[in-house]
Amino acid sequence: MIYLDNNATTLIDPEVAEVIKSHTELMLGNASSLHSSGRKARALLVEARQTIASLLCVTSEQLCFTSSATEAMNLLLNVKRTPKHIISSSLEHAATLSALQRLETKGSRISYLAPLEGSGSITANQIESEIRDDTELLVIMGANNETGIKNDLSSIAALAERVGIPLVVDGVALFGKEPFTLPSGVHGFCFSGHKIHGPKGIALAVIRNGYSVEPLIVGGPQQFMRRAGTEDVVAIVAFAKAVALAIEKSAESQIRMAFLRDQFEAALVERLPNVLIHGRDESRVANVSNISFLGIDGESLVITLDLAGVAVSHGSACSSGALEPSHVLSSMGLSREAVRGAIRFSLSRFTTEEEISRALILVVEQVKRLLVGTAL
Ligand code: PLP
Repeated sequence: MIYLDNNATTLIDPEVAEVIKSHTELMLGNASSLHSSGRKARALLVEARQTIASLLCVTSEQLCFTSSATEAMNLLLNVKRTPKHIISSSLEHAATLSALQRLETKGSRISYLAPLEGSGSITANQIESEIRDDTELLVIMGANNETGIKNDLSSIAALAERVGIPLVVDGVALFGKEPFTLPSGVHGFCFSGHKIHGPKGIALAVIRNGYSVEPLIVGGPQQFMRRAGTEDVVAIVAFAKAVALAIEKSAESQIRMAFLRDQFEAALVERLPNVLIHGRDESRVANVSNISFLGIDGESLVITLDLAGVAVSHGSACSSGALEPSHVLSSMGLSREAVRGAIRFSLSRFTTEEEISRALILVVEQVKRLLVGTAL
């Protein structure tokens, strides 16, 4: 199987798998217990927390481990005082959109910015012109999970800092894909273990000083009272390893993935008559290529490619299966035909040149076959 669905989830890095194995074999106690096996667990937890904190240039107390980025985003938007007006975008992931809807039911007014015509991103200027006297929160993703198109985080964070409005950023599709520094204007940030070759079931919310959230889960005093419940120390230690590897390898893998993606896109344009590449001239993370094959049903192509041995996705992973047109591509103003025929190819640092060459042959073969089918 050629796996090109790395924005849905990634394979575990063998070095991370080794950490899981070696730590599962230890008799680790509850990190809140006083005895030696509890203290051992606590020491590992503290160390993992410090490792991630220093890699992100934040403090340990600003980190809250969660079960998923969905939970992290829900936590980041479970603000102590309901914001009067929030600025966000129509491009956000369902986790963000649903958490925002909940804030709407509590009285928040939300402006959902759509990308400017012909683009797939939200600019700092757009946000600035939407700011009102009662705007109290900005919620903008770092990169889009379906298209890979980035929002200019440094200028958005600079704006947030200048106007003194907290900014929450979904970093899931951005973190680990390229070298990254968390801008000082970002108050809340999150990403997920399973998108960076780490374990599933573990993610992170960064909550900077001055931004307050209410816990979603209450009980014991774990995680500085932000998320009660016994910590999964093995998952957290493995996650810390995945974060360290993602950062260490980000520059090299960005270059490799961009090279493979660009080769793949150029070859498809050359060999097929019906290809529309989204965001090709925009600033994108290197691992995503979102392509519409005009005249073809994307769902059918996903299935035929699967049978041929290539895993890709149509729409976002979480909404695929729902048979709903992608809200991201729709809000970019694409035609129904382009949205219907869109496929997301997402690479990882483990994707090889051979896999891309083979995938290219199979995609061309299957698209031609489906095109003939529609012409009959
Ligand atoms: N945000 C983005 C941009 C995503 O792509 C995803 C998952 O696809 C999520 C949030 C949710 O992440 P998780 O699967 O960890 O809940």
